[in-house]
Amino acid sequence: MNYHSTRSNLPTTDAAKAVLQGLAPDGGLFVTDRYEDFDWEGTLRLDTLGMAKKILSTLLPEIQNMDSLVEKAYRGKFETDELTPLVSVADRYVLELFRGPTSAFKDVALSMLPQLITASRSQEQVRDEILILTATSGDTGKAALAGFCDVPGTKIIVFYPDAGVSAVQKAQMVTQEGSNVCVCAVRGNFDDTQTGVKKIFAAGVPSDCGVRLSSANSINIGRLAPQVVYYFKAYADLLQQGRICLGDKVDYVVPTGNFGDILAGYLAKRMGLPVGKLVCASNRNDVLTDFLRTGTYDRRRPFYRTISPSMDILVSSNLERLLYLLCEDCDEVAGYMRELNENGCYTVSDALLKKLQDEFSYGCCDDEETKRTIGRVWKENGYLMDTHTAVAWCVAEDQKTDAPVVVLSTASAYKFPAAVLSALGEEVCEDEFEVMRRLNEVTKVPIPKALAELKSKTVRHTDVIDREQMQSYVLGKIDHWN
Ligand SMILES: *Cc1c(COP(=O)(O)O)cnc(C)c1O
Repeated sequence: MNYHSTRSNLPTTDAAKAVLQGLAPDGGLFVTDRYEDFDWEGTLRLDTLGMAKKILSTLLPEIQNMDSLVEKAYRGKFETDELTPLVSVADRYVLELFRGPTSAFKDVALSMLPQLITASRSQEQVRDEILILTATSGDTGKAALAGFCDVPGTKIIVFYPDAGVSAVQKAQMVTQEGSNVCVCAVRGNFDDTQTGVKKIFAAGVPSDCGVRLSSANSINIGRLAPQVVYYFKAYADLLQQGRICLGDKVDYVVPTGNFGDILAGYLAKRMGLPVGKLVCASNRNDVLTDFLRTGTYDRRRPFYRTISPSMDILVSSNLERLLYLLCEDCDEVAGYMRELNENGCYTVSDALLKKLQDEFSYGCCDDEETKRTIGRVWKENGYLMDTHTAVAWCVAEDQKTDAPVVVLSTASAYKFPAAVLSALGEEVCEDEFEVMRRLNEVTKVPIPKALAELKSKTVRHTDVIDREQMQSYVLGKIDHWN
């Protein structure tokens, strides 16, 4: 399968090389033009791991032994081998994506990515070790650390914004064990951190230093492909439960930050799955809401820290992939990205805006509404949701549709216990672990085991740097490892 940059049709590369590289050499993202001719109906008859094998070997055909890679990534690693259960709540469905090792939906992709990278590395006979560099708004970091921990041939450095992650998220990262892992705080917000990582990729590392860089962020096609699976899985569950007939459209509401999760839904649709509307839900950082409404993407706006920090993002990387997939014109996409870079904004053509609005709906909600939603759904339906899921639920309530609605749930409530507990009208103290205990006492919803154990774990990573130091930090680490 030919992959090429969103910003140029040539040169093309294959899936294994695209996974190893992460970002295309011209700064664009890898895409392919062929999603059709997929046996989507047959796929719906498989179990979740079967779906993963079929979808991943279709999207990444050059990576060999996909069946065994899928088995290694997932079998026994999640609460159930169904991976992502679908739960009926009121008159909607919640797709629980957080039943993996770190209690966030990023586990779905980041359990798989190390398998894809190490398989590609040996297939391509790469001698260098693969150094994963990752900027995280909170959840990617831990999920990537867990996925890559002690995977032979890889090292990983995770940068997180010191003022942008919850205490639980931070504790998850700084207690990470493993001889190939490194975690470092950066002064600033997520966009600063992500920009810093992009700059390091652009500058590269010396060719003789024994490592080559790759990315675990959702710019990597190997991160995106595994996420397509749960859209199929949710649809198959609805079929099996007799809630829909084959071919009926289903809407998916997605709490969105970097646009990876929802883009995977669009890929599922291109592969034939009868997806109705894809609803892009944002928090107070509503750059995507404005974009989908007006066609103008404008990052020149205040950045807000919210109670759904994994969506506090102003530059939504994967949107670039969507623009390409809709207009199929690399020059047009390259032009928008140049404008974004130079002026901080761009406006898409009327034709492209129309296509966007045909496929996507949108909405946003602030922290107050998010909390009210958590409180109300708990009280009325006895279902406990985290702050990100609540943003999506709140936006779902404003959508007019006749189709069944699946709300994607991206984290355990225990990853954001303070906001959730206060949303239930309870008092919250400073100590987040005490808050977790209290949330459990009030709701009786079990605390995921790995989160319950965090408190007693040793802190192993204490570095804090400025954004300008990120590059020298990485070079220093490479020296140190050598
Ligand atoms: C990463 C994340 C999101 C946003 O997903 P994108 O793929 O970046 O759009 C939403 N919720 C949670 C809990 C996350 O960790």
